Amino acid sequence: MEINSASFVVSNTDISKLPEADRPEYAFIGRSNVGKSSLINMLCDRTKLAKISSTPGKTQLINHFLINEEWYLVDLPGYGYAKISKKDRNKWHSFTYQYIKRRPNLMGVFVLVDSRIPAQKIDLEFMEWLATNQIPFVMVFTKIDKRASKDMSKQIKAYEKEMLKTWEQMPKTFNTSSVSKYGKEQLLKFIADTNEVF
Ligand code: GDP
Repeated sequence: MEINSASFVVSNTDISKLPEADRPEYAFIGRSNVGKSSLINMLCDRTKLAKISSTPGKTQLINHFLINEEWYLVDLPGYGYAKISKKDRNKWHSFTYQYIKRRPNLMGVFVLVDSRIPAQKIDLEFMEWLATNQIPFVMVFTKIDKRASKDMSKQIKAYEKEMLKTWEQMPKTFNTSSVSKYGKEQLLKFIADTNEVF
C-alpha cells in the first residue's frame, strides 16, 4: 500500500468523543520508548506525524490519524513508565481498555515490543488480556536494525521461548526497524489485506 495522505484528526481522553467508527482502525501500543512514534512516522513516510517525545506523566491521549482517507491509525498512550503514579496508571487502564473493548471498527491492535530487551511482564500480561478478551492483535518487534545479526535472532528466539511457556503458539509477528525501514511493506500489506474484510 502506498501512503498518499496522512493527517492528524483528533486527540481524545474520552471514548464518547472518538471519530465515527465508519472505517477500519488499527491501534498502536507499547511501553514508553519502544519506538512507537518512530514506527508510525516510518509507516506514514512522515517525520513528525506522531511526535517523538515521551514525557512521563504528560496527558495521556488517544490520537487518531486518517490515512489515505480510508483507514484510521490510532496512537494509544504508552504504558510502563517507571515513574507514573498509581492514579495515572489506573486512568490509563480504564480508558485504554474501554477503548479497545468497545471500539467496533478496531480491526487489530499492534503490540510493539522492543527487540533489544528481554520479554517484559507488562507486555506479556497485556497480550494475555487481549487474548482473553478475543481482541485480534499482532506483535511488532521494533529496533531490528541489523536483522542479520546473530544477537538479534537470539533475542527474538529467547522472547518466543518465554512466551511459549504460557502460549500455545506465537501470535502473528512482524520485525521492524524505523531506521532501516525494514518491515514497512509487510505491515502496510497486512493492513491493506485486513481493510478488505472490514
Ligand atoms: P516511543 O516513546 O515509543 O514513541 O518511542 P520513540 O519513537 O520516541 O523512540 C524511542 C527511542 O528509540 C528514540 O531514541 C528513538 O530514536 C529510538 N528508536 C526508535 N525506533 C528505532 C529503531 O528502529 N532503531 C533504533 N536503533 N532506534 C530506534
